[in-house]
Amino acid sequence: MKIKTASFLSSSTDYQQCVNDRKPEIALMGRSNVGKSSLINLLLDRKKLAKVANTPGKTRLINHFLINDAWYLVDLPGYGWARVSKAAQKQWQKMTANYVLYKKNLACVLALADARLPPQSIDIAHLQWLGENQVPFVVVFTKVDKQSKQKTKMHVAAFQEALLKTWEVLPKFFIASAHDKIGREEVLAYLQGIV
Ligand code: GDP
Repeated sequence: MKIKTASFLSSSTDYQQCVNDRKPEIALMGRSNVGKSSLINLLLDRKKLAKVANTPGKTRLINHFLINDAWYLVDLPGYGWARVSKAAQKQWQKMTANYVLYKKNLACVLALADARLPPQSIDIAHLQWLGENQVPFVVVFTKVDKQSKQKTKMHVAAFQEALLKTWEVLPKFFIASAHDKIGREEVLAYLQGIV
């Protein structure tokens, strides 16, 4: 898919505040600092459209980007950031959960996981929750440039093994690097089939 136009549209604190038309939405979910903003910039081929946060957990709102005047890419607040209060974390969690559960035109979630880490229970738990709620998702492993291909393979396999404890069919997965521009074509081709 060619990205002809991409622009920031809105920041919302609640799914009911978000733009409400029939265009499909693709939402990014993942731990703070996993590389969501960088992946958005990679996919859209715009250097600074999604501000790459210097401090983890900066993305605390539901951010909509309008792509090709046809669909939305949606940045959700990152989870798992320890340096904020429990109350604030709960509030973002609720904001994100309500968006995912009730936004009718949500077509797919890109669930991000850091390729450098062994399976993290917080990521597995989020995927479990998506599955239980029948939300379509794929997994995107980020930052693969930071290690050997073999290490990435090992972590992806371990992640899949962790999922197979509760899942019969594995979700689709992609590997990506914002720095080395890996994964862009593959993810966009997949999204084209959805949007
Ligand atoms: P977010 O909090 O999930 O939006 O994460 P950011 O996109 O702000 O990235 C967090 C940090 O990871 C930044 O310092 C980025 O430069 C770095 N980062 C993100 N993606 C990559 C990647 O593919 N490769 C490398 N080496 N660093 C990355």
